[in-house]
Amino acid sequence: MAILMNGKELAMKIRAGLKEEVEQLKQVNIFPKLAVIMVGNDKASEVYVRNKSKTCNEIGIAFEEFLLPEETKREELLNLIQTLNKRDDIHGILLQSPIPKHLDIREAFNAIDYRKDVDGFHPINVGKLAIGEEGFVSCTPAGVMRMLQEYGIEVQGKRAVVIGRSNIVGKPLAQLLLNANATVTVCHSKTQNIAEITKQADILVAALGKPKFVTADMVKKGATVIDVGINRTEEGKLVGDVDFTEVEPIASHITPVPGGVGPMTIAMLMQNVIKAAKELN
Ligand code: NAP
Repeated sequence: MAILMNGKELAMKIRAGLKEEVEQLKQVNIFPKLAVIMVGNDKASEVYVRNKSKTCNEIGIAFEEFLLPEETKREELLNLIQTLNKRDDIHGILLQSPIPKHLDIREAFNAIDYRKDVDGFHPINVGKLAIGEEGFVSCTPAGVMRMLQEYGIEVQGKRAVVIGRSNIVGKPLAQLLLNANATVTVCHSKTQNIAEITKQADILVAALGKPKFVTADMVKKGATVIDVGINRTEEGKLVGDVDFTEVEPIASHITPVPGGVGPMTIAMLMQNVIKAAKELN
């Protein structure tokens, strides 16, 4: 039986530590604050933003929400970002995706001051990660690395395989694993014979968004299996990218969905806001 990597519990512990840190910062007149911009009314985004607001509240981070209508013009969004860039009371700026199709999300991410880019999406932060310099790291990959660390999973010298190469999960995670001295392979939708590759992994990360994609025949005995996927079944149940029932008996460590990587993402966001507040003061 694999050891269950309990992200929910770990995230709670991290949040408690961050709460204490915020209390200490307030003693020296640093009041961390996150601004969240949401354009249009995507239902899932509304839930994500609500969760972020609740977690900020719990930790003592101030939170300001900017809800822009679906028909927001490019200039209006960019102007708001510029205003928030200049505001001294705001340390983190997060643009909730998706945004309406007539707007260019890359242009908007690039407009955020990289020192307030708590999502780690700005090219300067992406570049810093690539050259191994300190910056803001995308929250989900940062959460995965923290889980590996907390569960004592050795990364150095290990074979890591990441399925998925998105800019927010797969690529930054592959970079972090490489920076931690793993030998990294990235698989994607054009990869051939994927099972042959994944079977070599000591650390296997599934971040593709396909329910039960990773099956027992794709996993080496004793591997650590990290499931980043969040998929909703027709019955409304949340499932990951890994067939948990099949894979769990083979793995040495495995993350559940829900309660695995998901809660770590938001904890890392909070950590990034506090880091920004300290660096900007
Ligand atoms: P994405 O942007 O859709 O990227 C998916 C990646 O998976 C792409 O690189 C794609 O390859 C690859 N892929 C798709 N089908 C594949 C296949 N059959 N075989 C191999 N690779 C395949 O998704 P994302 O934003 O990275 O998110 C991935 C999953 O993680 C989703 O389920 C999402 O909900 C979840 N997620 C969870 C958290 C969290 O907090 N736990 C955070 C973010 C995302 P190509 O590049 O070739 O198209």
